[in-house]
Amino acid sequence: MAGVSLRKIWKRFGTTEVIRGVDLDIEDGEFVVLVGPSGCGKSTLLNLVAGLEGLSSGDIFIGAERVNDVPPRDRNIAMVFQSYALYPTKSVHRNMTFGLETRRVPHEEQERVVKEFAELLHIDHLLERKPGQLSGGQRQRVAMGRALVRQPEVFLFDEPLSNLDAKLRIEMRTEIRRLHKQFGKTTIYVTHDQIEAMTLASRIAVMDNGTIRQVGTPDEIYEAPVDLFVASFMGSPP
Ligand code: ADP
Ligand code: MG
Repeated sequence: MAGVSLRKIWKRFGTTEVIRGVDLDIEDGEFVVLVGPSGCGKSTLLNLVAGLEGLSSGDIFIGAERVNDVPPRDRNIAMVFQSYALYPTKSVHRNMTFGLETRRVPHEEQERVVKEFAELLHIDHLLERKPGQLSGGQRQRVAMGRALVRQPEVFLFDEPLSNLDAKLRIEMRTEIRRLHKQFGKTTIYVTHDQIEAMTLASRIAVMDNGTIRQVGTPDEIYEAPVDLFVASFMGSPP
């Protein structure tokens, strides 16, 4: 069980303030979508939660633990990127088990979870292939499989569907919803796509220029935007 809390988060690159005082409490099992225009700081915020970037100030809690100084591999999270970030020379199977090997998960347990999640994602017939021999949609399923086998408490997604065509995007959205329903893990999902946010989120956080403008359910955000930025970005009726 692990929610995520961000307390007064600031991130500067040199003198540029990219994240400017973000507070956000995410309950255990919630699916929160961070949405906002390109360059507003979504990836940076996610990378701070993952520990891939260091905070300038503020605190991040995963569950009860303050993780500011905890390295990424010990944060009980798994991340799925737009670019898949698969090892091109390794098989699908090895891509999925690689993170487990470095954590010294016993071989039989590795085989069990790979089989379970490969079946769940309909990639069990592809386990011996290399990423280059897969379609974009299949690669994204492998990237999700690699995250799932680690069985983290928190999933982080950074625009995972942006490289897919419209039809696949809708299919994978349904897939992600189904997985979240089944496992109920805390998820932070980044997108610049309002429709994706509306269809996936239990709550949406709308970002602009390093700050969160509004947090609410899809209905609240759409029906009662707090300002013109949120209204026009989310396409709310006037
Ligand atoms: P988003 O994911 O919403 O498109 P990012 O978090 O990638 O936005 O970037 C937010 C801002 O921070 C951008 O202006 C970007 O240029 C800047 N930025 C991101 N990473 C770095 C970095 N390593 N060094 C300097 N500036 C950065
Ligand atoms: Mg980004």
